Amino acid sequence: MAAAQRQTMLTVAAADQVDQFIAAKINTVILHSQTSSIQQFQLVAAQRELAAYIYQDTDLTRVALADVAGQEVMAVTQSGTANQLRNVSNSDGFRAASFLAGKEYISGVRFDQDNQPLITIAVPLVAFETRQSLANLSTAERGLIRNNGDIKGVLIADISLKNLWQSVLSAKLGKNGYAYVVDAQGKLIAHPDSALIKSTQDLSHTAQVAEFLQHPTATESPKINISEKGVTVLSAFHVVPHTGWAVIAEEPVSSIFAPVNHVFGLMVVILIISGIITVILSLLFSRRLTRPLSRLVAATAEISEGNLSTRLPVESSDEIGSLATRFNLMASNLQTLIANLKHEGTKLNIVLNSVGEGVVATDNNDHIILANIAAAVLAGGLPSDVSGKKFTDVFSLIKNNHPFSVDCTSSEVYNDIVYVSPNKRLHYLSISVNQIEDDPDGIKNIITLRDQTDERELELMKLDFVSMAAHELRTPITAIRGYLSLLSEDDQSVLSMGSKKFIERALSSTSQLVGLISNLLNVSKIERGTLNMVYAKIDWPTIVQDAIHDHEFSAMEKNIELRYEGTKNNVPLLADQVSIKEVINNLIANAIHYTDPGGHIIVSLEVTDTEIITKIKDDGIGIPANAVQRLFTKFYRVKGGIASGSGGTGLGLYISKSIVELHKGKIWVESEYGRGSTFIFSLPVYDEVQYIETTEKQMTGVNKRRGWVTKNITR
Ligand code: ADP
Repeated sequence: MAAAQRQTMLTVAAADQVDQFIAAKINTVILHSQTSSIQQFQLVAAQRELAAYIYQDTDLTRVALADVAGQEVMAVTQSGTANQLRNVSNSDGFRAASFLAGKEYISGVRFDQDNQPLITIAVPLVAFETRQSLANLSTAERGLIRNNGDIKGVLIADISLKNLWQSVLSAKLGKNGYAYVVDAQGKLIAHPDSALIKSTQDLSHTAQVAEFLQHPTATESPKINISEKGVTVLSAFHVVPHTGWAVIAEEPVSSIFAPVNHVFGLMVVILIISGIITVILSLLFSRRLTRPLSRLVAATAEISEGNLSTRLPVESSDEIGSLATRFNLMASNLQTLIANLKHEGTKLNIVLNSVGEGVVATDNNDHIILANIAAAVLAGGLPSDVSGKKFTDVFSLIKNNHPFSVDCTSSEVYNDIVYVSPNKRLHYLSISVNQIEDDPDGIKNIITLRDQTDERELELMKLDFVSMAAHELRTPITAIRGYLSLLSEDDQSVLSMGSKKFIERALSSTSQLVGLISNLLNVSKIERGTLNMVYAKIDWPTIVQDAIHDHEFSAMEKNIELRYEGTKNNVPLLADQVSIKEVINNLIANAIHYTDPGGHIIVSLEVTDTEIITKIKDDGIGIPANAVQRLFTKFYRVKGGIASGSGGTGLGLYISKSIVELHKGKIWVESEYGRGSTFIFSLPVYDEVQYIETTEKQMTGVNKRRGWVTKNITR
C-alpha cells in the first residue's frame, strides 16, 4: 500500500536525520573539547575558539566551559560573550559528564522562555596520562577508559532543535499526514501543532507510543491506531538510536482513502444522475406505453360491460399500434359472434316457444333451468315463473289415480298421465324424459310434456259413438243372424240350392259383423277402462290345447299343420279365462290366416320361475320390419298382401295386447318378412297369495261373464 510505504520511508528518513544531527552535534562538541586552549583553560584562546564555534553552528545557543568544580569559567552565546556565568555542579549534564561516567551527556528536550526546544550536550575535558588516539575509539570506548582523575572540566553546549524540527516536521505525508517526535519516555518533544506540546506531555497512553515504549529499538510498520486527537490514523514509528527517541508518522485514514472516496463519490453522483435520467426516460417511455395500455384497459372494461362497439384509435405502426389493431379486430369478431349467438338464441327461443308441446330442461337436482311457453302455460304462468323451481313441485302428476313422479335417472316415456293445472283443468299428458349426458350447462334432462287432452276427448267421443253404434247394431244383426241361421238349417225349405248358398254367405257376413261389433264394444271398454275381468285359477295347457282344438278344422281346411308342443302337465294360471283364451284364439287364427296352405303352426309353452311364456310360431307370410312397431296398435293392418284383402278389423292384436297387459304380462312378435312370425306372450306364474287377494276383491264387485268374438273363426 502506497500510504504505508510512504510512512515507513518518512519515519526512517526523519529518525535518521535526527540521529545524524545529534551525532554531528556530539562530535563537534567533543572535537572542541579536545582543543588545547580549552583543555588547558587558556581563557582568551578558548573564548576565541568557542566564539568561532558558535558562530559556525547557528543551532548552538550557548557554549560554556566549566571547571572541575562545576563553575563556569567562560560562556559564549550567539550574541557574544555571556554575561552570566553559572555554577553547574549540580546539573545533570555536568554530573553525568564529569563524575558519573565521564562521558558525553545528552539532556532531554526542554523549552526556553521563547518556547524554543533545546537540548544540552555536555562533554568532559579529559587529560589522559597516556596519549591515546581518540579517533580510533568510539565514544563508548572513550568513556570506558576514562577515570575521574583525567577529567579537568566540562564543555557544555546548549543546542536549539528549532531548525531540526522545522526540517523534520515539515516533511510531507499525504494530504493530512504529519510526523512528531517523542522521547524515550513517551513524552512529546516535537509536533507540528506546537500547542499540543504544551498541553500534552505524555503520550504513552496512545497505542502507537505504547508500542514504541515496549519495543524501543524496533521500527514499527504502519498500523491503524487512534491519534491523540481521537482520529483514526495509519501510524508508524522509527527509533533515533543516539537519543532513544522515536519519530512517529500518522496519517488520517480518511485522507488516505480520500481519493478512493472521491472516486466513489463521483461514481455515486454519476449513478444518481444516470438514475434520474433513467427514471425520466422510463417515465417518458412508460407514458408512451401506459397511455395506450390504459386506453386498452378502459376499452376492455367497456367491452366487458357489453359495449361491443368500443374501438381503440390506432396511432402508431409499432407493437402498440398492432395491439390496438388486433384489439379492434377481436372486438369486431366478438361483436359478430355475439350477434350471431343472439340470433341463434332468438331462433332457438322462437322454435322452442312455437313448439306445441311443453319442453322443460332440468338440472341434476330436478330444478327447472328452462321452460318453453307451452310448458309454462300448462303450469299456469310464464317461463320465468317456473324457472328455478323443482319439476315435481310445478307439475303434480297422477297415474292410475295415484300421485306419480317421473324418474329423471333414465330416459323413459310415460303415457296416460293426468295433470290438474292451477286453473283446475284436467290434462292428459304423455311425458318423455330424455337424459343429456355430460352437458356443460348443467342440463340433465329434457322433459317433453305432450298434452293429449284434446285427442283423448276426441277419442272418447269416438269411443262413445262406436260404442253406441255397436250397441244399436248388435240387436238387429243378432236377429238377422238368427233368422239366417234358421233358414240355412231348415231342411224343409223350399229355397233352391243357389238361394241357400246366398243365405250361407249372408250368415258368414253377419257373423263377421257380429265379431266386428263385439270387438268395437270391447275396444271401447278397454279404452275407458271398464273392461271387467273375472280372475280364476285355470290350467293353462288345457286352455291352450282347447284353443288349438277349436282351430283344427280351419287349419285342416287350409292344409296347414297345427300342433301343440308344450307340456300337458298342470300349469296353474291366475287369469280371466274367457279373455285370455281369446288372446290365444286370436293369435292362432291370425297364424292360420297369414300362412299359406301347406304351412306349419307350432304352439309351445315355456315355464320359468317367474313367467309362463306362450309362443305361436308360423312359417307364413311374415311381417315387414317397419310394420312391427305399430302392429299392436288399434286398427293397424299391414298394407298389401293378404291382410288388406281379408276381412280383418286390425283390432285383434290391440285387444290381445290390452288383455295380456291387464294380466300383467307382455306380448311381442319376432318375425321375418316372407319366412314366418312367432307371436310370444308372457304371463306371471301363479301366486297363491295374489289369487286369494284377487278373488276376495272380486267377491265384493259385480262380475259378469262375457263372450269374446275377436276373430270370427269362420272367416
Ligand atoms: P286383423 O283382424 O287384420 O287380423 P289383427 O290385429 O289381428 O287384425 O292383426 C293386425 C295385422 O297384423 C294383420 O292385418 C296382419 O297384417 C298382421 N298379422 C297378424 N298376425 C300375423 C301373422 N301371424 N302373420 C303375418 N301377419 C300377421
